[in-house]
Amino acid sequence: MAKDYLLPDLKDARKRNRELSQKVHFSYDPSYEGMGDGLCYYIITHGCQANQRDSETMAGILDALGYVSTEDETKADVIIINTCAVRQGAEEKVFGEIGALKRLKMNKPELIIGIGGCMCQEEETVKILLDKYRQVDIIFGTHNIGSLPKMLHDVYATRQRRVEVFSKMGDIVEDLPVTRFMSHKAWVNIMYGCDKFCTYCIVPYTRGKERSRYKEDILLEVEQLIGQGYKEICLLGQNVNAYGKDLSDEYGFADLLNDVSATGIDRIRFMTSHPWDFNERMIQAIKQNDNIMPYIHLPIQSGSSRILKKMNRRYSKEEYFALFDKLKQELPGYAFTTDIIVGFPDETDQDFQDTLEAVDHCRYDNAYTFIYSRRKGTPAAEFPDATPQEVKEARLQELNKKVAYYANLNNQRFAGQIVEVLVDGLSKRNSHTYSGYTPENKLVNFTGTDIRTGEIVKVKITEVLSFSLNGIAVE
Ligand code: SAM
Ligand code: SF4
Repeated sequence: MAKDYLLPDLKDARKRNRELSQKVHFSYDPSYEGMGDGLCYYIITHGCQANQRDSETMAGILDALGYVSTEDETKADVIIINTCAVRQGAEEKVFGEIGALKRLKMNKPELIIGIGGCMCQEEETVKILLDKYRQVDIIFGTHNIGSLPKMLHDVYATRQRRVEVFSKMGDIVEDLPVTRFMSHKAWVNIMYGCDKFCTYCIVPYTRGKERSRYKEDILLEVEQLIGQGYKEICLLGQNVNAYGKDLSDEYGFADLLNDVSATGIDRIRFMTSHPWDFNERMIQAIKQNDNIMPYIHLPIQSGSSRILKKMNRRYSKEEYFALFDKLKQELPGYAFTTDIIVGFPDETDQDFQDTLEAVDHCRYDNAYTFIYSRRKGTPAAEFPDATPQEVKEARLQELNKKVAYYANLNNQRFAGQIVEVLVDGLSKRNSHTYSGYTPENKLVNFTGTDIRTGEIVKVKITEVLSFSLNGIAVE
């Protein structure tokens, strides 16, 4: 293939300026209309909620072009893998999947395989895809989803591979089509990118600078979702508390919470909050609006101030505790969860003990725990790290035991209680049982009759487990 593309560059992706991000409107050449008539697509999604929301955009674009989604990848004419670069494990899984698609492509040469998302923002990955995975036809970055129609068109027209990955700070693209994967709960992006540059994390490089959507666009989306019967929205951003800081006015996340609450939607969640930007006005907004759910995810990452400094988290253990204790006191009955990384370069036994103590202090409802994964191009990738992998794995296990202990302890408060569950549908594990979530984001599996997805039903809790509750519908 003639080299008519630029490889991504993590150094370029690091650049930041204070300019307002451009708002651009999605459109495509009208001659592409009907390009997918009679053809099927299949999307595989890895990673965080932002990726799930991006896959809904990819699905929306493909539907608009006439393609139809299929659950059977062998029937697909276009297969897209939306990738995650946060940890090595996720990347290896994707390479395995692409490898497995080779056979499908051999049986069906006209199949188009597209790889998108965060992995494609990494120079190394794109080189590997180009050199070793000839079955891949399209490589597109997180800033290039809107180019899917043109890229598909070009592959059909030229039978050449296409690469489009911009290493830029990013725009705010509005009017992208969306096909939501759920009919009762929706992700709503309120901002994109991240400027925090935690030393272990690849996200600021793969997703560009922190940039907020205009409140009018967000509120319009929420109103439309209400009109379509949605019961719950989750406001999404890598650090939602920083919402609006890049826009010129004084309007911030607390104001947005108040305005979204005023739309009257049943349930509002938000994710993720960085402890650094959590302010008093936000606490008051959360407290005063009943439709903001009593659940806060507040990543701590480590309980050692020494490690937090090396992580560039911008708070010490004491500052995190001060915020956490204040939230606990002002928001009684709320559930709190966190993210924790073990085995960060040079983490000592004492540092790890500090993390265990932090879990004892905060008694989280749950924690998402990870072993540190080296991400090339990030500062921590260059930090010396003598801790053997077995030690890191043992630390993770010890941590997980403690997390499970407090998860179970916290769940005990629901024993015998009647809780309100937004129903997701039949349980994945048991076809006679429904599942859904309480306002505190507790997973409930329950029995009942005539239950519909998207209903909010009252359920009596009959059994408490560490990471879920069991019950019986009472209405
Ligand atoms: N912006 C969110 C925040 O700061 O909470 C997090 C986004 S990141 C996709 C989700 C979690 O992945 C982080 O909170 C962190 O615990 C974990 N993570 C990120 N980079 C990692 C790495 N290199 N190794 C292990 N875990 C990592
Ligand atoms: Fe990554 Fe830190 Fe940004 Fe979260 S706040 S996305 S962990 S750099």
